[in-house]
Amino acid sequence: MVLPGSRALTRRHVFGLTTLAAGGGLLSACASADRAAATSSSAAPAPTAPPSEAAGAVSGEDAWKQLLAGNTRFIGDQPTHPHQAAQWRSSLVQAQHPFACVLGCGDSRVTPELVFDTGLGDVFTVRSAGEVLDDAVLGSIEYSVEHVRTNLVVVLGHAGCGAVSAAIDLVRHKGEVTGNIATLVRAVEPAVLATPPDPDPGKFLTACVAEQARRVKTELAERSEIIRDAVAQRGLKVVAATYDLADGKVSELT
Ligand SMILES: [Zn+2]
Repeated sequence: MVLPGSRALTRRHVFGLTTLAAGGGLLSACASADRAAATSSSAAPAPTAPPSEAAGAVSGEDAWKQLLAGNTRFIGDQPTHPHQAAQWRSSLVQAQHPFACVLGCGDSRVTPELVFDTGLGDVFTVRSAGEVLDDAVLGSIEYSVEHVRTNLVVVLGHAGCGAVSAAIDLVRHKGEVTGNIATLVRAVEPAVLATPPDPDPGKFLTACVAEQARRVKTELAERSEIIRDAVAQRGLKVVAATYDLADGKVSELT
């Protein structure tokens, strides 16, 4: 995608083509080769939109379906590992057209590109422990919505989240958090306080994780005019979801 001058400059300046590489300007020959490579090991369909499509061409609803289809392959131990070949990588040098933005926790067990079976240029990923929003995280998501034109933002919490667990301990005056970790954990505290008590610690943690993801979803619209406008004007879809560490399943939270 070629952006008007000021936007293009901002985009290059802030993110840099070499640091957050990925992108469009995709040659159909490369796309065909990549699709062939991606499907050679499995009959599963390629998970992403046709690379020749312009940025923003995939609706939020279709993007969510694509992510869930990729998650189904991941759950079934039949990932296609798409869009990782050298030829595909080369085709992404000039621009990116990811079809979704995912805000996930930093937990090493919940890598969005893997759990959704996607590849380079498919997902604009922002990660923050507990999916906590600060201005930089929010700005990164706004960038994906405003400039990269993703029509889907997923807030992905997960089972056994350490940030949420630490917030539970904080509320109960157990344990100790220091440095900037304290700031992070306190940001999750409202979700813990809003969650009904449960005598089962595991169930309570799961409920707090879900509450945190839902609250962050709500907070995105409350804090961001860019996101509010995208929802109202072009149907940006914002989803809260959780990931199960055991079976690998991503479930939408309603
Ligand atoms: Zn976590």
